[in-house]
Amino acid sequence: MTEKGLCIVVSAPSGSGKSTICRRLLAACPDMEFSVSFTSRPPRPNEIDGKDYHFVSREDFQRRIERGEFVEWVENYGEFYGTSGRALQDLLRRGKDLLLDIEPRGAKEMKKKFQEGVFVFVLPPSLDELLKRLQKRGHETPEAIQKRFAQAASELEEVLWYDYAVMNEDLDTAVGQLIAIYRAEKCRTSRLLGAINHLCSSIKKEV
Ligand code: 5GP
Repeated sequence: MTEKGLCIVVSAPSGSGKSTICRRLLAACPDMEFSVSFTSRPPRPNEIDGKDYHFVSREDFQRRIERGEFVEWVENYGEFYGTSGRALQDLLRRGKDLLLDIEPRGAKEMKKKFQEGVFVFVLPPSLDELLKRLQKRGHETPEAIQKRFAQAASELEEVLWYDYAVMNEDLDTAVGQLIAIYRAEKCRTSRLLGAINHLCSSIKKEV
């Protein structure tokens, strides 16, 4: 019998190293799939439509909002981002484990609708380090970096309602912690009720 898939939602302020950690988690866990969000922002040079995001126009995104297609959506830095409810439910029902990389407002909305989801926040080791990492990315103006830094610092308080916090001081340690969270959550009794009931009913037949 197929158990319902597990949904891991990861959030972090920009510059925390979340994308790298998520990529490493997906590479280490073949049973896990990345939940591809919709966005109205244009693709960056190395991004692939349908793999990194479903890239759509603002008008297309707004029509999808009106049709109620998103389980959560936000406007962030002037662009829309959202998670398709149907795609999510279909994959979970088929037993797929899903990784969602979404910001805290959307994650909070998800928590209301998916109480069984696992919510993980990736923390930078310090604000100084966060600023250094934002500056090192090198593709933004000092004003844009300051704006991201201010938003990042205000998002940090959100960590308090997440189930887990992973401190990204050392990348390998942080990836190891996220994998450990995933493995432990897979062993939760409440997620294995199908297999447990099946086992218990066969014991009764044997006796
Ligand atoms: P970027 O434009 O750099 O790919 O993403 C900007 C932010 O949008 C990141 O913090 C990312 O986690 C967030 N994001 C990506 N997809 C979604 C989504 O479907 N919903 C929400 N709420 N945030 C998302």
